[in-house]
Amino acid sequence: MNNTITLNKIYPSFHPSGEGINWDKNITDDFTFIEWWESVKAMDDEFSELLYNGFPIAKNIIQAPQIVRDFTKEPVKLGSSYRTPRWEMHRGRSTKGDHPKGKGVDINGKNVVETLITAINTKNELYRKLRSIGINAFGVYDWGFHLGTRIEKPTGEIYFWDQRKKKE
Ligand SMILES: [Zn+2]
Repeated sequence: MNNTITLNKIYPSFHPSGEGINWDKNITDDFTFIEWWESVKAMDDEFSELLYNGFPIAKNIIQAPQIVRDFTKEPVKLGSSYRTPRWEMHRGRSTKGDHPKGKGVDINGKNVVETLITAINTKNELYRKLRSIGINAFGVYDWGFHLGTRIEKPTGEIYFWDQRKKKE
């Protein structure tokens, strides 16, 4: 198990011709800079610095949606990823969650919920891949899945919660 989680950042890249930010630059095979950028939640006066100086997203959190996408072979949509502490406070949430550390991402898309629930229940290849990169927090909601990376429990168990209003 990979317990060494190196916090990483996503930085913009710029068109050499001086046309500004290359929004369509791939971060992984199927996810572009703009998809990650649009998943950042912050106060209005925080965006500019985050855009130009980069925003914190752990390396394994960058990889996780791609792993799910490779498995479902369907588009996966990023909900929120990095959320600044000020944004979380503004929304009345704790600043100690995965998102303000750049260690969580919310995803949804066709078959995402079913696929991840099956993965957790059967410990299949998808589950093993996510666990092998250090994804150990799985939260299921009506809108999709939260994937996060936290300090491993001594037992090696995952953090799992189900917040769906209607259980399937
Ligand atoms: Zn989340």
